Amino acid sequence: MFEKILIANRGEIALRIQRACRELNIKTVAVHSEADADAKYVRLADESVCIGPAPSSLSYLNIPAIISAAEVTDAQAIHPGYGFLSENADFAERVEKSGFVFIGPRPETIRMMGDKVSAKNAMKRAGVPCVPGYDDALPDSPAEIVKIVRSIGYPVIIKAAGGGGGRGMRVVHTEAALLNAVSMTKAEAQAAFGNPMVYVEKFLENPRHIEVQVLADGHGNALHLGERDCSMQRRHQKIIEEAPAFGISPRLRNKIGERCAEACRKIGYRGAGTFEFLYENDEFYFIEMNTRVQVEHPVTEMITGVDIVQEQIRIAANEKLDLKQRDIQFRGHAVECRINAEHPFRLTPSPGRITAYHTPGGPGIRVDSHVYHNYFVPPNYDSMIGKVIAYGDTREQAFARMRSALSEMIVEGIDTNIPLHRLLLQDAAFISGGTSIHYLEQKLASLAPSE
Ligand code: ADP
Repeated sequence: MFEKILIANRGEIALRIQRACRELNIKTVAVHSEADADAKYVRLADESVCIGPAPSSLSYLNIPAIISAAEVTDAQAIHPGYGFLSENADFAERVEKSGFVFIGPRPETIRMMGDKVSAKNAMKRAGVPCVPGYDDALPDSPAEIVKIVRSIGYPVIIKAAGGGGGRGMRVVHTEAALLNAVSMTKAEAQAAFGNPMVYVEKFLENPRHIEVQVLADGHGNALHLGERDCSMQRRHQKIIEEAPAFGISPRLRNKIGERCAEACRKIGYRGAGTFEFLYENDEFYFIEMNTRVQVEHPVTEMITGVDIVQEQIRIAANEKLDLKQRDIQFRGHAVECRINAEHPFRLTPSPGRITAYHTPGGPGIRVDSHVYHNYFVPPNYDSMIGKVIAYGDTREQAFARMRSALSEMIVEGIDTNIPLHRLLLQDAAFISGGTSIHYLEQKLASLAPSE
């Protein structure tokens, strides 16, 4: 096992990784920007190194600075967390070439999954069900594009092969709008991702977002930890997640989960990963794979008892998976609310000083957050300041505990989305289960005028 790990991230996930390390008796190095110098997790780390000024491009995305920090502190491995450099194949390669262990998949795997056309093809070959579409990037010939899309049938969605973060996508309902949409998406893809390749797939009208968590050790062992429902999204960003997903039978869970685990064995996947699917009319359709730990990993930890971050570290240390699929028991229900420093309905970011802070507690409540009374939320990064997770024997109990937790929670001095969460936890459609990825946007639109 490693003696020292450098955590190349910030905020709640930096603290989460640090906690996993402490439990495994591993020393930690926190790297931080000037804006994060006073952060609690920086002080709690065994060592810390400032890697640059506040803007991420000069600090958390600064590869040479992170590698030198690992060198001067004698760290053996680097955990990238989520976001920032976590899915950057060049970073993973540089880390390994510099003699450190990258806590994540092999660089080739990250590269393959980063190109959505190659990811989809790899998954299709491995037996994972994908959104119907055309298996390659779209050709240049207008006549061929028209023919390809006719064979899929409208509506379709044109997507950038190198896209991410919900950008570089366009829905097309009619043939008249097709060619223009393709050239606009290509131009956008070139500008935003430096890669003009686009592909096309069937547009699903009212799907849910359901994803499957996997662990694989690179020695041919892989297992799934069930699914999460992350349909409650605005601007393609998740705000509430739960596990298990409402209405998914154990049989269906095992079927889709085993497909994902088998795909991991086939491609020699190493580490924790998530297969993201759209789910409509009882069918799963793969859209992409995330090759890192996800924000919403705690809901899976709560219902399986597996510490996903510790498993990532063990796998990176070349250990074989201790767990077998039959050891994984799904017990109870968990729901997570992402607490963002933003206006609850207008969604505008709200950085600044927290003048009063009180976290909830009680049976089944977990709070993953790096903030505290008098903490200053810097304007330079993502607006998420923490996560509240509620566990219960049943979905009803988990929701009741979440309602109670949200009623106890106090964050003053900045706007947060806690009022929105309180409202959603009382929402009849959400409570009855199975709302689609469009539900929150529609709900927000209906709330806007009264606000
Ligand atoms: P990104 O990597 O940018 O997050 P994804 O491929 O994961 O892109 O898609 C992001 C979101 O876009 C999905 O969660 C869904 O809301 C929507 N989307 C993507 N593909 C489709 C599709 N074929 N049909 C309907 N919605 C889609």
